[in-house]
Amino acid sequence: MDARDMGEDLEKILLTEEQIGTRLEEMAALIDADYAGRELLLVGVLRGAVMVMADLSRRMHLPIQMDWMAVSSYGSGTKSSGVVRILKDLDNDLTGRDVLIVEDIIDSGLTLSWLVANLRSRGPASVEIATLLRKPEAAKVDVDVRYVGFDIPPEFVVGYGLDYAERYRHLPFVGTLAPHVYGG
Ligand code: 5GP
Ligand code: MG
Ligand code: MG
Repeated sequence: MDARDMGEDLEKILLTEEQIGTRLEEMAALIDADYAGRELLLVGVLRGAVMVMADLSRRMHLPIQMDWMAVSSYGSGTKSSGVVRILKDLDNDLTGRDVLIVEDIIDSGLTLSWLVANLRSRGPASVEIATLLRKPEAAKVDVDVRYVGFDIPPEFVVGYGLDYAERYRHLPFVGTLAPHVYGG
């Protein structure tokens, strides 16, 4: 799949496959250095973080384990409320573990701040966050994000795991949609 196949739906490409790969390589090196000598449990937040998890973890050299969580944030339309329900919980016990939450994007940060608090209550050695993308709103929430791939403008983006009505997740790049896709 490349840009041409979705040409009619896309407005512009914000981050190319190559840019994402280069940045993930840098992030993996930072994480490897920070956790040297330890074993890391990567916690991916379904479904958007699937691509980041796959491509970040494959660039890491630490011993790692992976686990997945699915949460649903109550809220109207596209805004999350911070009230979260667990749809699929972790399979691992977090006691004494170094945990790194792997996210696709942080917008309001409400879902993530709830998630961090929830995981910290389970007795881990540490809980940190790695996200590929971060929007400006996230600065308003008091959640410390250790690893950020790219700070992007407050636009709705798709691709590389991110969907609009469950479509476009498979695109290897991150882009914005043309207004007609939203019915505009
Ligand atoms: P938050 O609680 O940070 O507002 O919500 C983050 C979640 O909202 C992300 O995991 C993602 O599912 C969704 N989201 C936020 N911004 C975007 C965006 O620009 N594009 C897409 N496709 N989803 C987004
Ligand atoms: Mg996410
Ligand atoms: Mg979505």
